[in-house]
Amino acid sequence: MQDALRELTSVAAEAAAASMWPLSEEELLTFIDRVHTAQQMLHAAMLHAVREVEGRAIPAKHQATSPQVWLRGRLRIGIGSALRMLAQARLLDTVPELDAAVTAGRINAEQLDSIVKAVGDLPSDLEPDVRNKATTTLMSWTSHLDPIELRKAGKRIQMHVAPDLDDAAEEERLRRAERAAYEQRFLTLSPIGDGRVRVRGILDARAAATVTAAIDPLCRPGTAPPIADRGGPNAERADATGIDGGEDLRTPGQRRADALVDVSRLLLAGGLLPDNGGDRPQLVITASYDVLRQRLGGGTTDTGEPVSAAAVRQMACDARILPLVFGGDSQILDAGRSRRLVTGPLRRALNARDRGCTFPGCDRPAGWCDAHHIVPWTDGGTTDLTNVALLCEHHHRAVHDVNGWQVRIGADGHPEFMPPAWIDPEQVPRRNPYHRRT
Ligand SMILES: [Zn+2]
Ligand SMILES: [Zn+2]
Repeated sequence: MQDALRELTSVAAEAAAASMWPLSEEELLTFIDRVHTAQQMLHAAMLHAVREVEGRAIPAKHQATSPQVWLRGRLRIGIGSALRMLAQARLLDTVPELDAAVTAGRINAEQLDSIVKAVGDLPSDLEPDVRNKATTTLMSWTSHLDPIELRKAGKRIQMHVAPDLDDAAEEERLRRAERAAYEQRFLTLSPIGDGRVRVRGILDARAAATVTAAIDPLCRPGTAPPIADRGGPNAERADATGIDGGEDLRTPGQRRADALVDVSRLLLAGGLLPDNGGDRPQLVITASYDVLRQRLGGGTTDTGEPVSAAAVRQMACDARILPLVFGGDSQILDAGRSRRLVTGPLRRALNARDRGCTFPGCDRPAGWCDAHHIVPWTDGGTTDLTNVALLCEHHHRAVHDVNGWQVRIGADGHPEFMPPAWIDPEQVPRRNPYHRRT
């Protein structure tokens, strides 16, 4: 036996040090299968040894407070792993068929763990026959079920053999889980550099359902044709399909992120939020006047995150976003302030004229839109129907892109868009037929 163990160690060392690149694909797959089977067999060997250690009360002799604590110290593993090994070792000891299957490498460690948990969930006063039957039934499924499916199968067996175990326990378990989930709730927005902010959080199922219900209708493909960043792999295609109202190239993750922002924008625009320190809640952006004029430098959000000059100019374009402008010629801004707000009768007239985002192919209604100044108010542009057009967030971004689409008011007083030359060399103006009255 001692010789065999020595040999085992040297074979294992050889396998661990082996180069993978000379292997053919077939040899590589064989390698994975064999090593895995060996791992599982060695796991069985370890469980047998652990059971023997426990049987001989070696942990107590070593003054350990429990077998799991001893195992943790001996192997430098976590207490959870130690407990799992002990539970597996005990079950193998009581079900010889299971022991044989694990020893032969037919049941892997994770599957075994699912079986141990399923058997552990059975009521303690269950007939031994029934318990063994449950164990061997689960065993027979290990050839085609993964650990998670086995766990579910175990639940079904439990409901079958102990139906009254049962509703009350299940209800209590659910309520405990709900309480824990609610207590663990949190949401953080942490800047991680390069203009990215990581959103992390936990919600309980009910709260998550509320958020999902709010963003779901906005997550549908095609609810906002995307404008790809210049140079991205799909840039050309995305712009082209964006205006056709065709395929939405955003990933599901991108659509959910957009939807969350859209919900927030809609709430800010609707004036439904409670006052924040006496002010109507709104997005505040701080920048110097030079940034707005010269398209250089940048600004900061009221949470202190830096934003580019292009973003500042877009955000400053509509009155719903309040630019706090420092330095330079601030009197001009103050004087011009009342002129640049697209509110009241002007906004109503604009809504009536455009009825929604004016970008070709976009179906966003007026309530979602910013009033875009065609000639920026910082460049002396006026705030009247000849110089403003409704644009949703996505398309507002697109027209503020220096290499992007140009917008102008056509001869009949409606906005029209000139595609960039890389999309249409002729740059034929296009319109959005979507909101037209018929
Ligand atoms: Zn704008
Ligand atoms: Zn749009």
